[in-house]
Amino acid sequence: MDSREFKEAATSSIDEIINYFETLGSRNVVSTVEPGYLRKLLPSEAPEEGEPWSAIRADVEAKIMPGITHWTHPGFHAFFPCATSYPSMLGELYSSALSGACFNWICSPAVTELETIVLDWLARALGLPACYLSTGPTRGGGVIQGSASEAVLTAMVAARDKYLRETVPESGLAEEEREERVMVKRSRMVALATTLTHSSARKAALILGVRFRAIPVREEDGYRLRKEALAAALAECRAQGLEPFFLVATMGTTDVCSVDDFEGISEALAEHVAPDQPGEVWVHVDAAYAGAALVCPEVRQSARIDLIERFHSFDMNMHKWLLVNFDASCFFVRNRDWLTKALSVNQAVYGNKASDGGLVTDYREWQIPLGRRFRSLKIWFVMRSYGIKGMQQHIRRTSQLGEEFAAALRARPDLFEIVTGPSFALTVFRVAAKSGEEPTPEEERNALTKALYERANASGKIWLTSTNLDGKFAIRLMTGVRTTERQHVETAVKLLTEIAQEVITGKPV
Ligand code: PLP
Repeated sequence: MDSREFKEAATSSIDEIINYFETLGSRNVVSTVEPGYLRKLLPSEAPEEGEPWSAIRADVEAKIMPGITHWTHPGFHAFFPCATSYPSMLGELYSSALSGACFNWICSPAVTELETIVLDWLARALGLPACYLSTGPTRGGGVIQGSASEAVLTAMVAARDKYLRETVPESGLAEEEREERVMVKRSRMVALATTLTHSSARKAALILGVRFRAIPVREEDGYRLRKEALAAALAECRAQGLEPFFLVATMGTTDVCSVDDFEGISEALAEHVAPDQPGEVWVHVDAAYAGAALVCPEVRQSARIDLIERFHSFDMNMHKWLLVNFDASCFFVRNRDWLTKALSVNQAVYGNKASDGGLVTDYREWQIPLGRRFRSLKIWFVMRSYGIKGMQQHIRRTSQLGEEFAAALRARPDLFEIVTGPSFALTVFRVAAKSGEEPTPEEERNALTKALYERANASGKIWLTSTNLDGKFAIRLMTGVRTTERQHVETAVKLLTEIAQEVITGKPV
C-alpha cells in the first residue's frame, strides 16, 4: 500500500467507523456466532499474493463484525465499560505511526516525557495526594501499564523486594547465606486480599509463587474490608508463622463496586507494623474502574482518597470509564525507587549516555516487559479535548443514569430488590421476594433471577452480567458506557419489568 492508497483506505475506514458509531444501537449487543465460526469463513493459509484493500475491507463487515460483541453499544451494561472516544482513537493512530519500543528515554524522549507529564496531570485531576506526583515530596510518580492485572503484579514484585530488603540484612552476610535466608523468608510471605478483590491479585500471587489469603467480606459490612477483619487476618497469619507483606485494597469491587475502609485498613496495619518501618505491609489500591470517578471532587471525600498517602501504590484504568481506548492502566507509586530497585536488570545493549548519567526516566525499570508503546498520546488527546470539566460531566452523567435505573427498580418493589448500589453507576439487583407470610425460598429467588437474567440477555438489546453473593444469584447493570443515554436505560427498565412480571407470574404480559 503506497501513500495514495493509504489515504484513500484510511479516509473510507474513518467514514465506516463513524457510521459504525452512529448506527451501533441497531446491532445486537452480544455476538451470536457459534464457536469456530471464523475458521469456516477464512482460508486456511495466508494469500500467496497481496490482496487489494477493497477485498480486505469488505471482509471486516462480512466476517469480523458478526463475531464482535459491542462494548460501546448503548445497551452494554455488562462487566465494566471499555472506553473509546474519537480523540483517543486519533491518539492510537499517531501512536501506531510513531511505532517504537520506547523502553529507554533515548528511544523517543517525547514518549517518556509526555507520559510523566500526563500522569502528573491525571494524578492532580483525580486529587491523589502529592506523594504520587513525579514532582512530589517522596520521589513518587506514575507509569502506564497494559492492565490493572499487570499493575498489581508489578506492585507485588516491588513489595516483595522491599520487604526482603528491609527484613533480611543486605550487608554482613555471605552471599549464599543471604540467599538462603531470603528463600526461607519467601516461603513465609503472604499476600492478602479479600473475597471480593479482583482475581488478578490471586493470579499475581500464583505467578510470583507467594502464599495468598482472601479475607472474607460480608454483606453486613457493606462488602467492605474493615479494620476488625483485617486485624483478625493479620493475627491469624502471625499465629501461623506467616509474614503478610502485601494487601490489595479496592475502590470499586468488580461484583458490587464497594470501597474498602481505607481508614480502618491503615489503623489495623499501623497496629501490626508502624508505618514506614521495616516489614510494613505494602498496600496497593486497585481502583481499576471506580478510580475514574475521582475526577469529581465530591467522590474523593466519600472514598477518603486523602488516606492513600499512607499506602504505597494506586492503579486505575482510564480505558474503563475515562474515555481512553484500551489499554491505559495508570499506575502510581509513592516512591519510584521501590520499582526501580526491584525491576532494574541491566544488559550492555540497553546502556546509553542519558541513562548512565541518571538524569532520565527509563520506564523499562518500572514495568515487567521491556518494550512499550506511545500510550500517553491518547491520554493527552483525551484530557485536552474533554478538559477536566468534560471528564467530570461524563462521570456525573453516567452515574446519574445509574441513579435513575435504581429509582425505577425501587418503584417496583413487587418485582425487584436492590442488593447494592447504585454505586459508581453499578446497580446489583434480584427478583423480589413474593409478599406473603412465608418467605420465598432462596433457591426459588435465585432461579427466578436467573430466568430474568437469561431472557434479558437473549433479547440482544442489552447485555448484563451476574454475580453470586454468598449464595444469592444477582444481576449487575452498569450505565457507564459513553453512548448510553436516558432512553437506553428506559428501554432496559421496560424490558426487565416485562420479563420480571412474566417470570414471577409465569404468564406472558
Ligand atoms: N480490578 C478490578 C476492580 C476490576 O474490576 C478489573 C476488571 O474489571 C481488574 C482489576 C482487571 O482489569 P484488567 O483487565 O485491566 O487487568
